Amino acid sequence: MASFAQFLQDSGVYAAQSFMIVPRGGFNLVCLRDSKDVHLSYDRDRLQVEDVRFEQVERVAQEYINSRYGKQESQERDDQLLRLRTGLYGTARLDGSARGLKVVAKGVGIPELKAARGTTAIKLEVAILQRKDFTIAFRFLKHLDQSGKVINATKWTPDDVPWFLTRLNWVFGAQTNIFFTLVDAKWITVQKALGPKISRDVFRKDIVPLKRRGADLTCFLVGDYDAMDTEAAGEYLPDEQVFVVVDQGNPPVFDLGEAFIGVMAHEIGHFLHHKRNMPGSGHHNRSGILLSSGMESLSLDKQLVTNFNAW
Ligand SMILES: [Zn+2]
Repeated sequence: MASFAQFLQDSGVYAAQSFMIVPRGGFNLVCLRDSKDVHLSYDRDRLQVEDVRFEQVERVAQEYINSRYGKQESQERDDQLLRLRTGLYGTARLDGSARGLKVVAKGVGIPELKAARGTTAIKLEVAILQRKDFTIAFRFLKHLDQSGKVINATKWTPDDVPWFLTRLNWVFGAQTNIFFTLVDAKWITVQKALGPKISRDVFRKDIVPLKRRGADLTCFLVGDYDAMDTEAAGEYLPDEQVFVVVDQGNPPVFDLGEAFIGVMAHEIGHFLHHKRNMPGSGHHNRSGILLSSGMESLSLDKQLVTNFNAW
């Protein structure tokens, strides 16, 4: 039985939901497993589907990674490029049964890609998504301790921002064609002793006014914050277009190593949800998916893509 699979984790192929995204004017990659004698059919006015052949692997992999990570060098970018090349070389082998398909968007909407062998067929809905760009600023809090000395409230610093952006632009870029551009990242100082845990009142009154005017979104790093029980160790304020993330993130609900960036993505999920005027906060019960009230991850699903972007 043939099946579709993604080459890289969280790369916009939602095989379990028979759904994938392709950036408008761009392409995405999908692996077709057990592809012997399988015939592909699709809307040729809106899609172009071709096998990635051996001699094309380097170029296609580079182009794919460049369009999602930009030119910014990072370890993550290098690792992903290596993984993708390895995967594509695997499917380009003539003796293998899997095919690496490059799915190019030529039109708009949500055409279908069908793979049939005899009377059995599997299909993917291919959502052609317009790119959306938002600007984001980061603010790192300093305040006074009891003796009046200025101290850093957070362990994070502006030097960490390139990493935040690399991760966020994969989570939202590769999965739903939404990208964030940095406006600036700076320390801010509140000349008061605020204590180790920032209250919601203090945040609104003394910190939020220090947001970056003109940015679509400002993220505050304040150390610890009195987040509500319903919230994943942070908070998004729709009326201000700002959010706060606690230094530790939310280890119980995310995988190891994703607890912090996961909460950042969670709060940005609220921003994107509100931006489309969707009802409610955006929380849901689909375990293992971003914004879930239970266990979360950096993975989106078809419903979240539908909520955040449109074809
Ligand atoms: Zn939330």
